[in-house]
Amino acid sequence: MTMPLPDALNRFLEEHALSLDTDASQASALLPALGASGLLKHGVPLALGGEGGYTIDALDAITAVAEKSLAAAFVFWGQRAFIEYLLQSPNEALRERWLAPLLKGESAGATGLSNAMKFLSGIESLQVQASTVANPFAPGHFLLDGQVPWATNLRPQGFVVAAAVERRDGEAPFIAALPFDRAGLQRSDDLDLIALRGTHTAALRLTRLEIEPQDVIAIDARAWLPRVRPAFLVLQCGLSIGLAQASLAAAQQHGAAARKVLGEPIQQTQAELAVTVATLREGLYTGQFVTDPVPLFQARIRLAHLALQAVQLELQSCGGRAYHRDQPLGFARRWREAAFLPIVTPSLTQLQGELNKRAAKAAVTA
Ligand SMILES: Cc1cc2nc3c(=O)[nH]c(=O)nc-3n(C[C@H](O)[C@H](O)[C@H](O)COP(=O)(O)OP(=O)(O)OC[C@H]3O[C@@H](n4cnc5c(N)ncnc54)[C@H](O)[C@@H]3O)c2cc1C
Repeated sequence: MTMPLPDALNRFLEEHALSLDTDASQASALLPALGASGLLKHGVPLALGGEGGYTIDALDAITAVAEKSLAAAFVFWGQRAFIEYLLQSPNEALRERWLAPLLKGESAGATGLSNAMKFLSGIESLQVQASTVANPFAPGHFLLDGQVPWATNLRPQGFVVAAAVERRDGEAPFIAALPFDRAGLQRSDDLDLIALRGTHTAALRLTRLEIEPQDVIAIDARAWLPRVRPAFLVLQCGLSIGLAQASLAAAQQHGAAARKVLGEPIQQTQAELAVTVATLREGLYTGQFVTDPVPLFQARIRLAHLALQAVQLELQSCGGRAYHRDQPLGFARRWREAAFLPIVTPSLTQLQGELNKRAAKAAVTA
């Protein structure tokens, strides 16, 4: 059963789900609404200002928001992923500086780590480079140049963004937190997207941007990224689960005429969804995904496919009414939202590629 949303957030999402998908008029109101709901604190230790609980609780919260609006859920994911980076960072000063305002939705946290996740899988080289500052009074300072081609939750009012950085001195790459007002950081206009337009998604250019040790989330990206990847991926699963649940509920509600034919596939999709979610929860509970990410990759792929299937079932069950812009069905929005699920990093092709590589390796060693 889905976690009930606090009333104010529920009303905000019911009222603005379409706009969050099609324009930026509510983009700046979204994060404060998420912050006020308290949901950003789920799965964050009490001692650090959170609500306590586990990553499962954050997953449930993202799922509940995704049932109403994928744009809102993706902003939630970006903010919560950044919070997770702080929780898993050894840099206490950085946590002190950012955690409290992020948990309240007063500051925006963005994760520009697609590039880093692709780098980890050997798909892409890092797009930000660091040169050491040659000043004995500034030890550990770097000058950064490069770009972050995509990041969501870049609020024009202010944000902090996580980026992976390659060192020109040949040392291990690191992950840095870049505040919006640091000299040398330039944000583009919002990207001209086909959907999720209320998410403050833009690109960044870095030109001789100076950072100091207090800005470093993790000094060794290769060791740190695989540790945060389970939470990164698990929280993304909430997007697919929420959307699938919303479409299946709509398919059941509207499909009276088609029920004889579609009843069984709808039930089958629901059952498969329940089994996959149970596998996900079990893996999270036992901590299995940290040592063996294969079932997590498989669950992410499966959930995205189930969500796409659910939207198809909603379409078939609603028939021509789904095509009417003047019908308040939400179908067209969910159809556009679903197009995001296969491409969000790590994309389904990347995950499948990773599974193929691991299977090939296992076959060689067997
Ligand atoms: C609305 C929206 C919001 C976004 N927000 C963020 C954000 O907050 N942070 C962020 O970092 N990114 C964000 N992204 C970027 C997103 O996660 C992808 O990284 C982005 O779509 C870039 O990938 P690409 O499809 O351009 O990849 P390309 O490299 O152009 O690849 C094209 C396709 O081929 C696949 N592919 C490429 N190489 C391989 C390979 N070796 N093996 C298997 N498959 C491969 C890719 O996965 C993709 O499906 C966002 C994108 C969108 C649409």
